[in-house]
Amino acid sequence: MSDESIPKSDFIRDIIAADLASGKHATTITRFPPEPNGYLHVGHAKSICLNFGIAQENAGTGARCHLRFDDTNPEKEEVEYVESIKTDVRWLGFDWGGHLYYASDYFQFYYDCAIHLIEKGLAYIEQQSAEEMRANRGNLTTPGTPSPYRDRPVAENLDLFARMRAGEFNEGECVLRAKIDLASSNMNMRDPVIYRILKSDHHNTGGAWCIYPMYDFAHPLEDALEHITHSLCTLEFENHRPLYDWFIENCPVPSRPRQIEFARLNLSYTIMSKRKLLQLVQEGHVGGWDDPRLPTISGIRRRGYPAAAVRHFCRRVGITKFNGTTDVALLEFDVRDHLNESAPRRMAVLDPVKVVIENWPAGTVEPIELANHPQNPDMGVRSTPQGGEVWIERDDFMEDPPKKYFRLGPGRHVRLRGGHIIRCTGYEKDADGRVTLIRAEFLPGTMNAPTPEGVECKAAIHWVDVATAGTAEVRLYDRLFTVEDPDGAEGGFLSVLNPESLKTVTAMVEPDLTMVAAGTSYQFERLGYFVADAVDHQPGTRPVFNRTVALRDSWAKKG
Ligand code: ATP
Ligand code: MG
Repeated sequence: MSDESIPKSDFIRDIIAADLASGKHATTITRFPPEPNGYLHVGHAKSICLNFGIAQENAGTGARCHLRFDDTNPEKEEVEYVESIKTDVRWLGFDWGGHLYYASDYFQFYYDCAIHLIEKGLAYIEQQSAEEMRANRGNLTTPGTPSPYRDRPVAENLDLFARMRAGEFNEGECVLRAKIDLASSNMNMRDPVIYRILKSDHHNTGGAWCIYPMYDFAHPLEDALEHITHSLCTLEFENHRPLYDWFIENCPVPSRPRQIEFARLNLSYTIMSKRKLLQLVQEGHVGGWDDPRLPTISGIRRRGYPAAAVRHFCRRVGITKFNGTTDVALLEFDVRDHLNESAPRRMAVLDPVKVVIENWPAGTVEPIELANHPQNPDMGVRSTPQGGEVWIERDDFMEDPPKKYFRLGPGRHVRLRGGHIIRCTGYEKDADGRVTLIRAEFLPGTMNAPTPEGVECKAAIHWVDVATAGTAEVRLYDRLFTVEDPDGAEGGFLSVLNPESLKTVTAMVEPDLTMVAAGTSYQFERLGYFVADAVDHQPGTRPVFNRTVALRDSWAKKG
């Protein structure tokens, strides 16, 4: 189950290994370049595990991975996002080791490169409108029509560019275009825009600039400046690669990074677009970026997913060139697998009904010894008190049970986990027909002993002692969407929100659960894995648990 159990080999690692073996590079430098315009999600985790993972695996050669905030767009970024991204990368277990960069620190360099292109006759100031440019771009069968400004003299371009930078023009009045190939079958090469006017302040550079570089221009320059050897990005950028290479070829850069594309992670039953996640947060469909139902890193952390499980999942999904959708059940499997090993066991009753054991000697409290983990004796044993009244789960009792039902029913036996066998002797109901109380008797001598001859008892159920129980708010999270592909839903992703994605109940819990530290995980026996909520849980005064994942995949049956 450890991270090391899956071989670290894929086409990108193979390329890097070959580059190191051939001496093309002495080491490898990768980067993770988020735009700070939202919180990270598990798709980003895949990229983080790839880039930082490669650096870790090649640490012997001096490899490293930069965390670079791709903050060249002045309009969208926020400091809150920068901080959350750092927290998330660290939580996933990675470290940029001092190599934290901001693409906005390189504004002067992009500008100098633009001047260099102009001087080489490889860029020009365009003054057609955006619509005219679009109309003149041509299509797959027709080459583009040259702009009337395409052959301006270098001096005129330099002058106009300086005036653009000085703020003499309004937004949209002119742009700088690279002069490449209007007949290229790759539309990205048909004189792409590389600078535009945006009269917005930037969070880093304030009002210093009113022209900003386009992503396709800035990104290769950032990589080259940082001496990135392998620039790993998702497949959408495959047909931008010739442009990436063109900028590297034609700008005065200090190194020659290589772009390699891999398939992005898509997960079933969720969405991963930052824009849509923002909409869910802003419109209040969820409680915030860290809502445990979101696929954000902060959401799954609060949900109780272990970082190691997320890393293992990313490793298992692997790195390929084929886009597809990964079943979210795979991620949940890894989460269960990790928590099964690490989470101590406790008993909690989510839908309690009281059992009165009528032959229990009044005032007697029996200490019930229970292992904290069935396979791991190192986790120790606890003693939990039991008196004559216990809470059990409402659905562990049936008034008229079918043959295959082995739990409690009139006249039937069941074992209280770790304790005695009890027999149901009666029950009470309210006016609505709801069972309000179960009467029982215990069978003396059955604790820590096999079922006596002649007694039919095939199941043990969890329970919580009434006299000493703690109460806790328990949040039962389910998938946020009811369909596998919310993005493809006819009425849009909001139309397929799962109305039952959050149910809150008041549970009866073993007394020590009310005192645990926020962020600690437990298996509630027979129910699932739960974590003390990092935000709302207050030990002693307000215990709050989130269901991380149920013990079994309840959705698998529905399908
Ligand atoms: P947007 O372009 O809408 O801002 P983005 O998801 O591309 O969203 P970035 O902040 O640019 O966001 O992403 C940072 C890095 O994470 C990029 O290198 C990107 O390729 C990678 N990445 C983003 N989404 C995924 C995904 N679903 N799977 C794998 N890698 C991803
Ligand atoms: Mg992006």
